[in-house]
Amino acid sequence: MEHPDVLLDEVELRAVVDRLAAELSAEYDDGVVMVAVLRGSVPFLADLVRAMTIRATVDFVSLSPYTPGTGRVRFVMDASTNLEGRQVVIVEDIVDTGLTSAFLLGEFARRSPATLSLCTLIDRPARRVVPVEIGHTGLQIEDRFVIGYGLDFEGRYRNAKCVAAADLDVLSADPDAYVEALYCA
Ligand code: 5GP
Repeated sequence: MEHPDVLLDEVELRAVVDRLAAELSAEYDDGVVMVAVLRGSVPFLADLVRAMTIRATVDFVSLSPYTPGTGRVRFVMDASTNLEGRQVVIVEDIVDTGLTSAFLLGEFARRSPATLSLCTLIDRPARRVVPVEIGHTGLQIEDRFVIGYGLDFEGRYRNAKCVAAADLDVLSADPDAYVEALYCA
C-alpha cells in the first residue's frame, strides 16, 4: 500500500483552522465577506467560518486554471456580493505560483472594498511567479505536491480528512494509489 506523507492530520488541521479563525475574528469588525476559490477551498472555508466568532458571509469564485504560456487567469464564475466598502478576505487552499491570488487581489481591489486580504491554508513559496502578500497562512511547506482536505489529484482526495504530500510519479501511474491509505485507516 502506498502511504502519503501526512503534513496536517485532523487534530493539527483543527488547531491551524482555530488559530486562523481567532486571528481573523480579532482583526475584523462584524461583517467580513469570505470569498473562497472553488473547489479546493471548500472544506477549509466551511471549517474556518464556523470557528470564527464574528459575523461572516460567504461567496465563491470559480476560475479557469492558469495554463503555462497564456499567463492568464479568468473568471468562470464571479462573486455575486457587492464588495464596495466591505471587509473582504479571499480564502485559498494553496498559494503556489501566486497567479490565482494575484489575479483575484487585483480584480477585487478595483471594486473598492474597505479592506482586502488573503488567507491561505497552505503557502508553497518555492514556485512563486508573482509576489503575493498573504495576510494569514496556515502552514508553509516545501516544494511538494499536496492532496486532501479540498486539494485534489484529478478530482480525487478532496474529501480526505488530512493534508498529505504525495508522489506525483506514483499518482501518475495510479491515480487511486493513496485511496486505501487515506480512506481506510
Ligand atoms: P497558483 O499556482 O495560482 O498559486 O495556484 C493555483 C491552484 O493550483 C491552487 O488554488 C490549487 O487549486 C492548485 N494547486 C497548486 N498546487 C497544488 C498542489 O500541490 N496540490 C493540489 N492538489 N493543487 C494545487
